[in-house]
Amino acid sequence: MTDQRLQPVHIIGGGLAGSEAAWQIATRGIPVILHEMRPQRATAAHKTAALAELVCSNSFRSDDREHNAVGLLHEEMRRLGSLIMRAADANQVPAGGALAVDREGFAAAVTADLAAHPLIDIRREEIAALPPADWDSAIVATGPLTSPALAEAIARLTGADALAFFDAIAPIVHRDSIDMSVAWLQSRYDKTGPGGSGADYINCPLTREQYGVFVDALLAGDKVSFHEWERATPYFDGCLPIEVMAERGRETLRHGPMKPFGLTNPHAPDVKAYAIVQLRQDNKLGTLFNMVGFQTKLKHGEQTRIFRTIPGLEKAEFARLGGLHRNTFLDAPKLLDGELRLRADPRLRFAGQITGCEGYVESAAIGLLAGRFAAAARRSEVLPPPPPTTAHGALLAHITGGHVETIDAGPRSYQPMNVNFGLFPPLGHPVKGESGQRLRGTEKTLAKKRALATRALADLERWMVGAERAVAAE
Ligand SMILES: Cc1cc2nc3c(=O)[nH]c(=O)nc-3n(C[C@H](O)[C@H](O)[C@H](O)COP(=O)(O)OP(=O)(O)OC[C@H]3O[C@@H](n4cnc5c(N)ncnc54)[C@H](O)[C@@H]3O)c2cc1C
Repeated sequence: MTDQRLQPVHIIGGGLAGSEAAWQIATRGIPVILHEMRPQRATAAHKTAALAELVCSNSFRSDDREHNAVGLLHEEMRRLGSLIMRAADANQVPAGGALAVDREGFAAAVTADLAAHPLIDIRREEIAALPPADWDSAIVATGPLTSPALAEAIARLTGADALAFFDAIAPIVHRDSIDMSVAWLQSRYDKTGPGGSGADYINCPLTREQYGVFVDALLAGDKVSFHEWERATPYFDGCLPIEVMAERGRETLRHGPMKPFGLTNPHAPDVKAYAIVQLRQDNKLGTLFNMVGFQTKLKHGEQTRIFRTIPGLEKAEFARLGGLHRNTFLDAPKLLDGELRLRADPRLRFAGQITGCEGYVESAAIGLLAGRFAAAARRSEVLPPPPPTTAHGALLAHITGGHVETIDAGPRSYQPMNVNFGLFPPLGHPVKGESGQRLRGTEKTLAKKRALATRALADLERWMVGAERAVAAE
């Protein structure tokens, strides 16, 4: 009988996710065939033949593991033996509190380590169709610029609506940073809809004057331009950027995402708002709310400045800012199970940005998990998902089910997301100072983040011990 462990796991795409997945699988004694199409076939953004090429910035963002969710993700990845983090740490360049890398040194280190591993076979070829029937375990990690032939094959398998070729990202706000003495909860015309309560939206009212100032700011605000190869980005009617809507007429937004009708402000029931911004719950935990219909190409600094002029959002903390890019990503909460397997064809796992996470580090982290799940399955072990209190678990839970689907028209509500503390289950107890005193303001925010990070690392350690026990008991 064939020893199943000697059967390779195939990985399509040697970017951030595919490289990490390959490492995790091979270091568990299982052979890997890594199929990377470069340099045979290029993408619009990659410039080299190196694996794990960074296509834009050379930053892995904050390395602060106590107060920043991506810094915490770095630390968890280090503890989980990440190749991407090892190469990043070895090729670090000065960047204050951020982890930035020498991009060539970084990619060369990842490429060399993978090439030197005896269980990894790197094949430079495009996989232009769904994996053949004799690949019983494969990870698709082809990223935001998945080659068109493979993307079309995936779209045929999943249904065209389930694979997006562009994102249309509206900003997301941390619920506890919204001023509810100004804003209020109510659904338009108090409609309950399926699963609603009649009070599912947070509403922020604007006077006529505030609306005018807001529209002027949108029109004047600095926008990000499209890359040359993104120019064909279609503006679907349901997802026009708000600044484009504002350009079409000063009243357009009032008849679109800023409609004031069917809503009454309980703080001032006799005053009719001229326009209203609505925010809708984004995750099952209820910690994040997205600004409905506010997809935008305004620069991030401009978004923060302009959106904080909206009454109720003066102190808004943004978990994600808006954007519109060429991207390829699945409607993962619907299509993938808790181990990143395609429900319709479980021999296929997905990893990296194609699952709807966003960023180098997040893509690599999801590659790490996909690799570990695939390795465990090959060894007939059971690997439970990391607890949702860890950064890996929070991100995985978001991708595979934590997002709240909506029924409204407009862009698909599942859109790319960076890791952030809004994805973590809340603490369940108030944070106190060292001598038990009540904390306020920034001090409280920092203490909460520290407590979330401490809980995450403790839970990660427990999960790692559990996973190792399962291997030892085999
Ligand atoms: C233009 C652009 C700029 C970005 N800038 C940043 C940034 O500054 N910071 C940040 O954190 N994130 C950025 N991102 C987002 C994202 O985090 C990165 O794209 C990241 O590289 C995603 O990792 P991945 O492994 O999912 O995909 P990738 O790193 O893109 O890897 C996918 C790999 O699959 C290969 N491939 C594709 N199709 C096939 C096929 N059919 N057969 C074989 N191989 C195939 C590709 O050649 C590529 O090597 C950017 C994305 C884009 C498109």
